[in-house]
Amino acid sequence: MNVNQSAPPVPPFGQPQPVYPGYHQSGYGGQPGSTAPPTSYGAYNGPVPGYQQTPPPGVSRAPPSSEAPPASTAQAPCGQAAYGQFGQGDVQNGPSSTVQMQRFPGSQPFGSVPLAPVVSQPAVLQPFGPPPTSAQVTAQLAGMQISGAVAPALPPVGLGYGPPTSLASASGSFPNSGLYGSYPQGQAPPLSQGQGHLGAQPPQRSAPPQASSFTSPASGGPRMPSMTGPLLPGQGFGGPSVSQPNHVSSPPPQALPPGSQMTGPPGPPPPMHSSQQPGYQLQQNGSFGPARGPQPNYGSPYPGASTFGSQPGPPQPLPPKRLDPDAIPSPIQVIEDDRNNRGSEPFVTGVRGQVPPLVTTNFLVKDQGNASPRYIRCTSYNIPCTSDMAKQAQVPLAAVIKPLARLPPEEASPYVVDHGESGPLRCNRCKAYMCPFMQFIEGGRRFQCCFCSCINDVPPQYFQHLDHTGKRVDAYDRPELSLGSYEFLATVDYCKNNKFPSPPAFIFMIDVSYNAIRSGLVRLLCEELKSLLDFLPREGGAEESAIRVGFVTYNKVLHFYNVKSSLAQPQMMVVSDVADMFVPLLDGFLVNVSESRAVITSLLDQIPEMFADTRETETVFAPVIQAGMEALKAAECAGKLFLFHTSLPIAEAPGKLKNRDDRKLINTDKEKTLFQPQTGAYQTLAKECVAQGCCVDLFLFPNQYVDVATLSVVPQLTGGSVYKYACFQVENDQERFLSDLRRDVQKVVGFDAVMRVRTSTGIRAVDFFGAFYMSNTTDVELAGLDGDKTVTVEFKHDDRLNEESGALLQCALLYTSCAGQRRLRIHNLALNCCTQLADLYRNCETDTLINYMAKFAYRGVLNSPVKTVRDTLITQCAQILACYRKNCASPSSAGQLILPECMKLLPVYLNCVLKSDVLQPGAEVTTDDRAYVRQLVTSMDVAETNVFFYPRLLPLTKSPIESATEPPAVRASEERLSNGDIYLLENGLNLFLWVGASVQQGVVQSLFSVSSFSQITSGLVRAGSQGEYGCGKAFCDMSGSQ
Ligand SMILES: [Zn+2]
Repeated sequence: MNVNQSAPPVPPFGQPQPVYPGYHQSGYGGQPGSTAPPTSYGAYNGPVPGYQQTPPPGVSRAPPSSEAPPASTAQAPCGQAAYGQFGQGDVQNGPSSTVQMQRFPGSQPFGSVPLAPVVSQPAVLQPFGPPPTSAQVTAQLAGMQISGAVAPALPPVGLGYGPPTSLASASGSFPNSGLYGSYPQGQAPPLSQGQGHLGAQPPQRSAPPQASSFTSPASGGPRMPSMTGPLLPGQGFGGPSVSQPNHVSSPPPQALPPGSQMTGPPGPPPPMHSSQQPGYQLQQNGSFGPARGPQPNYGSPYPGASTFGSQPGPPQPLPPKRLDPDAIPSPIQVIEDDRNNRGSEPFVTGVRGQVPPLVTTNFLVKDQGNASPRYIRCTSYNIPCTSDMAKQAQVPLAAVIKPLARLPPEEASPYVVDHGESGPLRCNRCKAYMCPFMQFIEGGRRFQCCFCSCINDVPPQYFQHLDHTGKRVDAYDRPELSLGSYEFLATVDYCKNNKFPSPPAFIFMIDVSYNAIRSGLVRLLCEELKSLLDFLPREGGAEESAIRVGFVTYNKVLHFYNVKSSLAQPQMMVVSDVADMFVPLLDGFLVNVSESRAVITSLLDQIPEMFADTRETETVFAPVIQAGMEALKAAECAGKLFLFHTSLPIAEAPGKLKNRDDRKLINTDKEKTLFQPQTGAYQTLAKECVAQGCCVDLFLFPNQYVDVATLSVVPQLTGGSVYKYACFQVENDQERFLSDLRRDVQKVVGFDAVMRVRTSTGIRAVDFFGAFYMSNTTDVELAGLDGDKTVTVEFKHDDRLNEESGALLQCALLYTSCAGQRRLRIHNLALNCCTQLADLYRNCETDTLINYMAKFAYRGVLNSPVKTVRDTLITQCAQILACYRKNCASPSSAGQLILPECMKLLPVYLNCVLKSDVLQPGAEVTTDDRAYVRQLVTSMDVAETNVFFYPRLLPLTKSPIESATEPPAVRASEERLSNGDIYLLENGLNLFLWVGASVQQGVVQSLFSVSSFSQITSGLVRAGSQGEYGCGKAFCDMSGSQ
């Protein structure tokens, strides 16, 4: 547990809770509830005082007032009426309860009445949103002096946070900062005036050392081969080619006693270590870990404490020197330390504001009132009380939310609560859902909303007595009163058109043009589908999936198939009028797999033959999506389209595209156009899809430029996925493709979803990143949402926060399950609030910060020159660290970079982001690759961005080849590669095998079946069941995709 989190005085939040007893009550009795309020989507469109009044600054979405669907006005009274006659609360215990529900009316016959689109307002398409607002931060860089002299009034950082006795102890409690690097005196004499707000401070001296240190990588660093871009911690901030006088390794003269310049409490001089990462062994991650070693000392070249407290010596202009890679904090060490310190015991969520273990640590979660970090991770778990503090620190306040995250088998899925016809209990004013932080008062007859403070009546059916602590006596029997995450069964009010939804449908739409046939794709796919259709997602213990399926093939025209079970053979219907797409058949298009198996199998056998001799090379694209969406509309259900597409859609049709690839635009102001869609048609189409709950997953098999930036618009806005297999060849790529396909088809998806993040007074959600659509400023609309997708939400202050009460988030996701059940999934998280910046800096999570910053930057390239985006990132990082140094660290040499303990990897990781293909493309990275990665990162969770930007480098020859355990990773830097070894590099998307030139011949023989290194070709080598390897002297792409 976190020693820094001494029991927070936080009633009513985070009350310590006993081990969860399980839900054994079968129900709570009571009368049937009132009839349902008549509004559809009332849950989300109600008036939300305090949240919709003020459009977030800098967000150029339409004002919410103009967006409110008609339902919103009627909604509040309805909600209140419902509370007045609150029906019986009926807790269904455990996951099995879900199958007891018989709510959905089964398959609807194909209706003829098209659904009214839910989204009819003009909308700003989120992913193509406003430019980043932080450009102005760059200006502040000039004023940013990382002064050696901290304002005298500021207490040492450790003061007051650690155990009181720890100040003088060797295991100093809070080594908040690591030091590395040192400015030579001649370059940056310590400044004596470090006071004042950073932003307001006039530039002092020319060329602030810190600034030059941070800005250089963007403009300078040598470009490594594209995939090695993120591998260069050794180059740190300021690659080798960049003049970095501040990173020379000769220490300035020592003047002050060791420790006095450190940001933590004084300790003995850091011990010298002869191992590769000196100084790390005894150090804990900043904000957690019971034992504190001696002060971290990243500056191994600087013996002992001699780097600390340097006084200006005689100016000695030093030649630019390369930063010593070993002097940079090691991600490998940080990851390993966290595993050792926090991997052994469960993470219990009962305490407010706890920083969870790193994403790289394997740990179990026990939900005791806050959502698991698998669902929500925050950039900081301690939020500054005021916006001034937040602005000063520049630490983004954001949550990365994965509402449907899959859990390890040891952890239970969220319990499903059924309140019967009255639906879930909510605050009358802000519509927040009942949660453990709501405070019951007046003997239990009323409750005060923890988000907006509104006092609400407790419906009679929900009444329960309070114990002597003011807590309901049934608190532990009700998931919504004791757990951080749970689900409610939604009533019909939460359904479109006040009708329970039909089960969703999957439509497979297969490009059968020349390229698709020739590459073997069509045959492979059809063969695979025959068996894959048996594994469609199902719910609970259902014997078979409720999902219906349909099939379309296309090139310049579309072919629909009737696969009705009563047919002996499938029937094809061709639609050649692609400009005005319609669905030529209703009955027999979407079918149940088991009923129509024979016809489906026959169809899948015939498709490759039917088009075997095709000469058609042109394809359409938008009409295909249109057709799928119309088919779902006609069937009155939500669903997913699986598109398998090969080429730029140049055939005459809506959404026709032209080849506009132009690498000459790179590094110009027009570079952003490469990321923008070339026509608005796809946004319009996406909006229609979202209204229908039509999610689009796109599998691309391009041989050349296909304009991924445009083709991925619909998947991106509908919560779908994009997969890309350049130059697809069955023999090389089938394993990867089939593995992706199987995973994609089988994964559990929520359909027709709306997500709202509510916050307690003082902060609010202002910005959103991810694969979704927004038609107003608060509701995240997701045609589909699977367990891999995250939505990143940024918060801003709109009032002062209170240390006592903390801050609360509640994420509510309304969705249709794959069985057609309408549900609400609720995640709650309580955070601490602080009046001291040091508290903020001790409770940040760098991996989450990087996730946010990468997404922010990747959206920024849509609107700003890439260089501007890079500079903005650098400036923000510098600002974050400068604020820490100025306000939290003890005085030290101006030349030293001082890092908060929990952010010591921030410069390294940010450097990786800066060198990623989107922000700094190598010569061989295509425009499509960049657009592809850009949209991919948008939905990544923290674990995915972590390994994507800082790949794992595993020395395969360091441990016995037959060993079952993977070898320990080494720092991802080219200079860590030894010629005598073989390394595997993986970033979650690609796998590379690097073979050193002097690897033992026996190893080469056994792995590649050739006698020497020079005979290894870049062809494919199969190594057990591990996948496919290519190899060569340099990195080369072998395999990959998630
Ligand atoms: Zn409220």
